[in-house]
Amino acid sequence: MWLRMPIELAGGYTSGSQRTRVVSEAWGEENLYCPNCPSSALRRAAPNTEAIDFTCPDCENPFQLKSGARPFAARIIDAAYDAMRRAIHQARTPNLLLLHYDAMRWEVQNLLLVPRFVFSMSCIEKRKPLSPAAERHGYVGCFILLGNIPRDARIRVVADGVVSSPHAVREQYARLRPLEKLGHEARGWTLDVLNVVRSLGREDFSLADVYARSPELARLHPRNLHVHDKIRQQLQRLRNLGFAEFQGRGIYRVM
Ligand SMILES: [Zn+2]
Repeated sequence: MWLRMPIELAGGYTSGSQRTRVVSEAWGEENLYCPNCPSSALRRAAPNTEAIDFTCPDCENPFQLKSGARPFAARIIDAAYDAMRRAIHQARTPNLLLLHYDAMRWEVQNLLLVPRFVFSMSCIEKRKPLSPAAERHGYVGCFILLGNIPRDARIRVVADGVVSSPHAVREQYARLRPLEKLGHEARGWTLDVLNVVRSLGREDFSLADVYARSPELARLHPRNLHVHDKIRQQLQRLRNLGFAEFQGRGIYRVM
């Protein structure tokens, strides 16, 4: 993977966002590979394919590439809220690639991969409707809340200018793949509990540590009245998925 982006292609464009799109998509065509199968390249999607920029020529996994010259914000502007909600409910979200480049040197600094099967309603937030004066008034967009996705589910393909090995990226992707079989609601719970566990900031933790964070889990899942039961069930699942271990006496270890 080369970090230098083909800035020479931006010549004919004056708008900053068009230049970014043209250059980053051309870079992607040369440098991206599939994390789901051994394919060493991704193919550009037909123009105007909604929310999909690349597909894998072998396994047909879809990818969306979002590029910018600023480091990733905690909230990333995404498409219409209803379209995103439907995509999550119907398991149609593409793999998300977030690219941050150095605008002076046109070099990729960070590339983050969020697998398509880690999205749940916990990681999107409805934006305010556009005002009646706006051209698309009534339109309701959404944010992707990067902070609500545990770091296990944010795969660093490039981190601060250092390229990860495709082997490591594919391994991390494969580790998350069992989440694909869960519905969006179940995986939302699993990842939300993992996020809480990670945010404790230590390897060993107790059930009480996670119970103490019940209010924030209840906020993410307002319809569920049995949050403690859910927490215990999710810790089991995290163990089955290899993210946590039981140490006995109510103590767990996060891997
Ligand atoms: Zn593939």
